[in-house]
Amino acid sequence: MVDLFVGILLFVAIVIGWLLGKTERKKSVAVEAAGGVGKEYYDGLNLLLNEKQDEAVDLLLKTLDVNGDTFETHIVMGSLYRRRGEVDRSIRIHQDLLARSDLTKAQHAAVKLELARDYLNAGVLDRSERLLKEIAEEDNLNQVRALEYLLTIYEQEREWAPCIEVAEKLINKGKPLQVKMAHYHCELAEQNLKMGDYVQSRRELKKALQVDKYCVRASMVLAELETEANNPKEAVKALRRVLEQDPAFVPDTLPLLLVNYEKLGNMNDLSKYLFECLEKSPAISIVIELSNLVARLEGDQAGTYVLSEYLKKRPSVKGLDRLISLQMERAGGEEKENLAILQAFTQKLIKDKPIYRCTDCGFDGKTLHWKCPTCKTWGSVRPIQGVEGE
Ligand SMILES: [Zn+2]
Repeated sequence: MVDLFVGILLFVAIVIGWLLGKTERKKSVAVEAAGGVGKEYYDGLNLLLNEKQDEAVDLLLKTLDVNGDTFETHIVMGSLYRRRGEVDRSIRIHQDLLARSDLTKAQHAAVKLELARDYLNAGVLDRSERLLKEIAEEDNLNQVRALEYLLTIYEQEREWAPCIEVAEKLINKGKPLQVKMAHYHCELAEQNLKMGDYVQSRRELKKALQVDKYCVRASMVLAELETEANNPKEAVKALRRVLEQDPAFVPDTLPLLLVNYEKLGNMNDLSKYLFECLEKSPAISIVIELSNLVARLEGDQAGTYVLSEYLKKRPSVKGLDRLISLQMERAGGEEKENLAILQAFTQKLIKDKPIYRCTDCGFDGKTLHWKCPTCKTWGSVRPIQGVEGE
């Protein structure tokens, strides 16, 4: 399939080159017209059709004179080599092109961009970065693409400050990168938090929320910071913001909510808040937390009632597992043994199931990644909902 695609692309390259070259050949003496270049094109095409692509590419490259007419053909061929993983060849083609003095300004920039992409593919990031910076500064048609590739490099290198700088330029050019940008600020905030610099970390989180007010991560990192700095009121405020930003993430805020409400000694307020959350996000983790809390405030029976009533409306493996645990505490003898068998089953189901899934590529797992490890999208991994999830 890939070979067929490469073959088609090569064919297109040949036709473009041949058509463009036609005008020039007409002007020149009819030396080559009868069969010179044209014949070699056809020889190349024959090799292609016979699936001898390596020989075809070499032959075609040899026959193409670099001039304005065949420029595009060279660019296409270079990119074909890169796609085939033969980056050293595409680098050679592009370096040869770049050394020429007869290229227009736009052509020169286009080759530079191709060469930068070659280096990026080859993992020679410093050279790629240097070329991309030059293109980005030159203000030409390729400026936006150069900035986008630069962003890829800085992300790979985890250099968040340059990421922010480049993303800002792209946003100014109309690219919708606000979500990414907020994550870059969060990355910096987490670095600062690790070093104990609360002031700088808070500053970055504020910027994250300014650029994307729905950035759940910014609220959660801020809550982490305020918990560490022993400001329970501020931590609760940050955690409660998640309900407005994206209710699906409320279950992830529960452990810190509990810690900070304990510090505040206001469990009634937490219980009220969790009831409010359930209206927007009927997640089983919230129900379980609420049922535990009600049990604590009003007794075991009231706690179990909250859980069983909810399960009637929305069946959930995690909820059933918790209900079995509660029943087991009160059961004895054969009944307890039977419940244990049932629980072994629910726990196996829970153990094997992922908790988060990427909405873009379907990657799933038990850890919350802010950037999908597979498709590299920021903010696309979300808690799984439904019977076997939340
Ligand atoms: Zn993904």
